[in-house]
Amino acid sequence: MRLDRPFIKFRHLTLDRDVAFTDANDHNPTVFEDCPSCRGTGRRGEVRENEHISYVCGVCGGSRHSQQRVPYFDNDAPTVDVAVASGGWITCPCCRWRFTLSDHRVWTGRRHARCGQKIRPVGGDA
Ligand SMILES: [Zn+2]
Ligand SMILES: [Zn+2]
Repeated sequence: MRLDRPFIKFRHLTLDRDVAFTDANDHNPTVFEDCPSCRGTGRRGEVRENEHISYVCGVCGGSRHSQQRVPYFDNDAPTVDVAVASGGWITCPCCRWRFTLSDHRVWTGRRHARCGQKIRPVGGDA
């Protein structure tokens, strides 16, 4: 993973399906913070006597999040105009990741899932 802008926490590789990205919340809804102990997986693992042991996270009890409410994205940078290449490909101006606008796992319609950058697609034939 490239860390061109290390001050942004790359917490999302893909979007959570149960989170609504709307105009009302500027595509940045408030959610329960990922559990810092298990990093939102709900499980911990360790190697003990050469055996990998997996168990339910004791901090969040397997719920995968802490009790703290936080913005889904840390990124509150202004919207950036980005030219769309053929096929709907776009390069994120924040994290330089390439993705297509039809990929709703990584594009909310306004923000890039990986870094939360707001993007206004310009031109293109998509
Ligand atoms: Zn946990
Ligand atoms: Zn990005």
